[in-house]
Amino acid sequence: MMKARFKLGVFVAALALAGCSQPVLDIDEPSEGQRISAEEALNSTVVAPARDIHKSEMVSAVERILPSIRAASLEVCSELSLPAQRCEQVRIAEVSISPNIDDPNAFADAQDNVQMTGGIVRISGSDDEVAAVLAHEFAHVMYGHVESKMSNALVGLAIAGGIALAVGSDGSVHDQQRSEDILRLGYGIGSQAYSPEMEIEADRTAIYILRKAGYQTTAMRDSIIRLSRIDLAHKHGSNSQRVGFLQTHPSSDRRIAHIISAIDDAEAGVPLIVADR
Ligand SMILES: [Zn+2]
Repeated sequence: MMKARFKLGVFVAALALAGCSQPVLDIDEPSEGQRISAEEALNSTVVAPARDIHKSEMVSAVERILPSIRAASLEVCSELSLPAQRCEQVRIAEVSISPNIDDPNAFADAQDNVQMTGGIVRISGSDDEVAAVLAHEFAHVMYGHVESKMSNALVGLAIAGGIALAVGSDGSVHDQQRSEDILRLGYGIGSQAYSPEMEIEADRTAIYILRKAGYQTTAMRDSIIRLSRIDLAHKHGSNSQRVGFLQTHPSSDRRIAHIISAIDDAEAGVPLIVADR
């Protein structure tokens, strides 16, 4: 009974988050051709098999990627002339991995630190895909998509609660003791804290970060395709659990069309543009 009430409170808090923050970039909708490519990619792209990374190797799988993604994120942040405090947060954000949570998910929490489940690391097909998830989350941090004052409920959930391993900005790793149930709830809310437009903005920015860091930009597309297929399998199976990372719409095909459009733009030298407001 207590548990149900707690969940309801959490749901209300999640709703209150909507509309806290506006998208930052000036973004055009993808072309017809890019939308068709997205549909084709979703149906027929062969993604690398999941590497099934063991719990004991998750931290090192993230650690070897983190420095270059952080450095590239800082470069993008300064090129966009975002406020210094946003770039500083990118510099100091901690990345935590919860090896015992297998639902593939990641989000930037209200303290602007990055939370990743073991599941999203386990199922990755390559370091590039882990890099894509990190780049996407650093973009949320860069744009201040969650404003801390508006999402204390989320902070409490994400931070209070299992065991998570945090990788600090100096590359050091430390254990954080958390209650796993609370951590799971935190993931549930954290992944719903962003609007669809913010997700698209984070995906598009991730392409530029990946490119600067020397990773395959198509890894962002492949991550979303992989997650969509897992999500679809769940939807049609007896297990009704959905993939947390996809819980905010836009639909995967619109998201992939934007990713394809950002890859085309980045390759053509079209910069990210901050919208005039
Ligand atoms: Zn996101």
